[in-house]
Amino acid sequence: MNKKILVTGGAGFLGSHLCEKLLGQGHEVLCVDNYFTGNKSNILPLLDNAKFELLRHDVTFPLYVEVDEIYNLACPASPIHYQHDPVQTTKTSVHGAINMLGLAKRVGAKILQASTSEVYGDPVQHPQQETYWGNVNPIGIRSCYDEGKRCAETLFFDYHRQHHVQIKVMRIFNTYGPRMHPNDGRVVSNFIVQALRGEDLTIYGDGSQTRSFCYVDDLIDGMIRLMNTDPQVTGPINIGNPVEFTILELAKQVISMVDSGSAIVTKPLPSDDPKQRKPDIALARSVLDWEPKVALHEGLKPTVDYFRSVI
Ligand code: NAD
Ligand code: UDP
Ligand code: UDP
Repeated sequence: MNKKILVTGGAGFLGSHLCEKLLGQGHEVLCVDNYFTGNKSNILPLLDNAKFELLRHDVTFPLYVEVDEIYNLACPASPIHYQHDPVQTTKTSVHGAINMLGLAKRVGAKILQASTSEVYGDPVQHPQQETYWGNVNPIGIRSCYDEGKRCAETLFFDYHRQHHVQIKVMRIFNTYGPRMHPNDGRVVSNFIVQALRGEDLTIYGDGSQTRSFCYVDDLIDGMIRLMNTDPQVTGPINIGNPVEFTILELAKQVISMVDSGSAIVTKPLPSDDPKQRKPDIALARSVLDWEPKVALHEGLKPTVDYFRSVI
């Protein structure tokens, strides 16, 4: 059955891939974005599709539309962007969640929240399971994002318990791919852009911190599977690639793939930078029958090709 689907943050990296996939499945898509980190060029190819509608709107303000499903992705995701205006970041997560949940309640829509592995903070449990409550600094420079996303999860579960809104909470781990902004500031885009320009790759700290990188196509597949689960499935559920790399390993892989003469330089480690991160995806495997298919070396190739074409 074709549905009317709202995607907030739809002009961003993940949102644009999601809009494209949903349109491909025959649904009507309303993309809402304030273009803080997103870009119209990400969704330019979709504008010809009669089932696609675009609205410039900030989710911290109420929105009255009629839809069947809501994917709530609006929020800057890169540390440099979410720290640029931290008060607005918290407002986007918290007021944005309240407005989208109020909308879901009024129209009886199902709603999915793009939450994050950052709810685990600098995790003591490794790999991270959904039952882990996290190790989060409430007053640090990452807190606007981490605590904003944690509060959004609280709101989702309270609207579910109190108002019986159908919710799906997805904890996304580091995801990369084409359409990340070249100046996004996240590690995969930074390293590829630096290597393509023949600049030195900037490792923050000694590069021993770890992340687990998921290719965007895998992530979007998991997201849509979660939305389509039975009503009793609420999450939270981890979606990410459990293969873990140090940041130094990532830098070396990018340099060899781009075949650049770039060297590696170190810069100070930002405060509260998590030392390790790797999802336990047992729940996603059993509930969604999902696991990532694209290995890092495979996903980096189209990502490098994309950045080569835009810079
Ligand atoms: P992105 O910055 O490319 O996309 C976010 C989009 O939200 C942008 O288009 C931006 O303009 C829009 N936006 C920001 N504030 C808004 C507001 N107040 N009103 C309307 N639109 C607003 O980032 P992304 O990587 O595509 O992330 C999408 C979502 O997934 C975010 O909620 C992020 O927290 C979550 N997430 C992403 C990752 C990842 O690795 N990519 C990891 C964990 C969680
Ligand atoms: N809201 C919205 N669109 C709707 C319905 C509600 O943006 O279609 C907003 C509304 O402005 C409110 C918020 O969502 O501030 C929460 O709505 P809810 O009904 O839960 O709370 P109330 O209106 O009772 O404060
Ligand atoms: N990082 C880095 N060099 C960069 C950008 C990031 O070494 O140019 C590090 C950063 O300190 C962190 C890791 O790479 O340890 C992942 O950073 P990113 O901002 O991509 O995501 P997050 O920290 O939110 O997982």
